[in-house]
Amino acid sequence: MQLVHNKSKWLCVGIDKGGGVTKVGVTFLCGKKAAFIPLLVYSGDGNSVKDDNITLSLLHKEGVWHFINSSACWSRFSEVLQWLVDDCGAYVNGDWPALNAIRGLGSPGSTNPCPMCYVRLGDLLTMGDSRTLGKQDKEIGTVVVAAARNQRVLPCTNNSQTAFPILRVAPDRIVPIPLHVLLGLGNFFLNKVVRPPCDPEWWAAALKRHSVKQRL
Ligand SMILES: [Zn+2]
Repeated sequence: MQLVHNKSKWLCVGIDKGGGVTKVGVTFLCGKKAAFIPLLVYSGDGNSVKDDNITLSLLHKEGVWHFINSSACWSRFSEVLQWLVDDCGAYVNGDWPALNAIRGLGSPGSTNPCPMCYVRLGDLLTMGDSRTLGKQDKEIGTVVVAAARNQRVLPCTNNSQTAFPILRVAPDRIVPIPLHVLLGLGNFFLNKVVRPPCDPEWWAAALKRHSVKQRL
């Protein structure tokens, strides 16, 4: 990875789970073309088919991954990815569940579902205040206190920060534009533009198939 970093001005860590297999890799520039190098493929990390914090927490466990030679200083795979973000300036890419899991947040159906800002679920077309690292540290403090008391953390008090982050990533290091803006546009289109008097059955089916959970 050091060689790739020396050659490429732009790096992006990608994490995704599908078909019971979690894939981790890095996209980089090879001349003028984007190229991809896989770093890790693993399975057997539980029953969940989605990228959630439990699945990805395997990246953060000690004693699972064994590093040798110049990488022997690391004990967790997440440390490799954190090095890419901190020292190599890598961005982070993933689908919405993966990005939330990486930042220790609840699912995209959470009260504050965005990994980049504090937008509320019912207001997906707007942008909330930025989820900066400093603000996230305060949210984690809430989780720690609640865990110590063996209490469930209420979303209204922790802004959907439900677990420790896998990676410490600032919102401006996350590659896609806030995905809720696109979904908010989809909801707006379905509910304000094509809603009945078009065929009500078609509209209901389209809403069920394409709309996200949003209070309209
Ligand atoms: Zn957002």
